[in-house]
Amino acid sequence: MKTMSTVAVIGGGPAGLMAAEVLAAGGAQVDVYDAMPSAGRKFLLAGVGGMNITHSEPSEAFVSRYGARAPAIRSLLDAFSPNALRAWIEALGIETFVGSSGRVFPRDMKAAPLLRAWLHRLRESGVRFHVRHRWQGWSTDGALRFFSPLGEIHVAADAVVLALGGASWPRLGSDGGWVPLLAACGVDVAPLVPANCGFDVAGGWSAHLRTRFAGQPLKTVALRFADASGRTHERRGELMLSDTGIEGSLVYALAAPLRDTIAAQGAVVVQLDLLPDKHPERVVADVSHPRGARSLSSHLASRAGIRGAKMALLREILPPGELSDPARLAHAIKSLPITLAAPRPVAEAISSAGGVRFEALDQHLMLRGLHGVFCAGEMLDWEAPTGGYLLTACFASGRMAGQGALRYVGCENASSGS
Ligand SMILES: Cc1cc2nc3c(=O)[nH]c(=O)nc-3n(C[C@H](O)[C@H](O)[C@H](O)COP(=O)(O)OP(=O)(O)OC[C@H]3O[C@@H](n4cnc5c(N)ncnc54)[C@H](O)[C@@H]3O)c2cc1C
Repeated sequence: MKTMSTVAVIGGGPAGLMAAEVLAAGGAQVDVYDAMPSAGRKFLLAGVGGMNITHSEPSEAFVSRYGARAPAIRSLLDAFSPNALRAWIEALGIETFVGSSGRVFPRDMKAAPLLRAWLHRLRESGVRFHVRHRWQGWSTDGALRFFSPLGEIHVAADAVVLALGGASWPRLGSDGGWVPLLAACGVDVAPLVPANCGFDVAGGWSAHLRTRFAGQPLKTVALRFADASGRTHERRGELMLSDTGIEGSLVYALAAPLRDTIAAQGAVVVQLDLLPDKHPERVVADVSHPRGARSLSSHLASRAGIRGAKMALLREILPPGELSDPARLAHAIKSLPITLAAPRPVAEAISSAGGVRFEALDQHLMLRGLHGVFCAGEMLDWEAPTGGYLLTACFASGRMAGQGALRYVGCENASSGS
């Protein structure tokens, strides 16, 4: 390299920071720009409830979590696998462990120590940070435009890595404001839509259910529905009643087909099995057992274990005649219909789907139509359930984009970043 190439990384989340690391290791001068007062705000939030950084399951199962985008993500994971990610974290001095579900966490479950150690190492390797710099696209002479505390500034760079995130939790910085900027340059961007999100029930809950039971979990239930093509989806787990509908891990896991079915047909009826471990005949026998002077609630609580939010949901959905008919009640316990009308807004979702389509990118994640501009992280058009798959793909794509940018600027030691 004759003079030091300058690469701008825009977006200081996990994808951008990983690109910055690879670029600095390869000998480029790296400037990281972020709109927020500090880098990695969503990454820190991910650590609040216990940061699930990746998953230990076999690679075929892992890759399958990316659904239709599995082929595109596979090549990223081939270059930086979940195991390599774990080793990278350990090299930062952060121990990891595999939880009982196979999920991988930092030993203390937090993101802050990891981010702190990482930012320190990046600064030591010469990466310069420019916070409160909001990217605004390009000027007519091809410079990067930023709104900064000093007003609008223009920056020239030999290559750019965009790692601007999706559109969930916009107050943490990723607000999807980049979509029109790239679309104006002819980049094919799939609309950003909620992923890993809750859903509103048609007509909303009654005031009684909302005020008394919103926030309460329904433990070990099964949710089943047919998508627009008639394919049945079924899963068991835990969901939560929300102010407007349902949310929680079971709902997030089915969020993509639920969202797409609602988009295709306007609403979707899901069947909730409140007692998935009990055979239907057993439920009929329990419910039909003479209850004497006992109320229906105490009868169902003692014979079938239906109480609290489960009982409230039955009362909310079933007409009185059905509640008092044991056969129909037993059927409803195994298959309670709930109509979902809409996903919750993307701002509330854990992640977003949509983004820059892989067809618009080459194998190093460079935009085919904008040479020298690379994209990484959640702003790419893929989605995955929770379980560490989100962060893993962000890290792996950041690495790929960083290596691509290194090659693009012709750094001699491009391979050292791999
Ligand atoms: C509550 C919650 C919990 C989560 N928990 C987990 C978890 O346990 N495991 C997991 O795998 N994933 C989790 N995620 C998802 C994960 O945090 C994200 O997928 C990941 O942070 C995305 O990384 P990224 O680098 O692509 O984008 P981001 O982390 O969103 O970073 C993008 C950066 O770009 C900046 N930016 C945006 N626009 C501009 C602009 N115009 N100019 C300058 N800068 C800009 C933003 O300020 C931001 O810093 C969670 C998400 C949430 C909301």
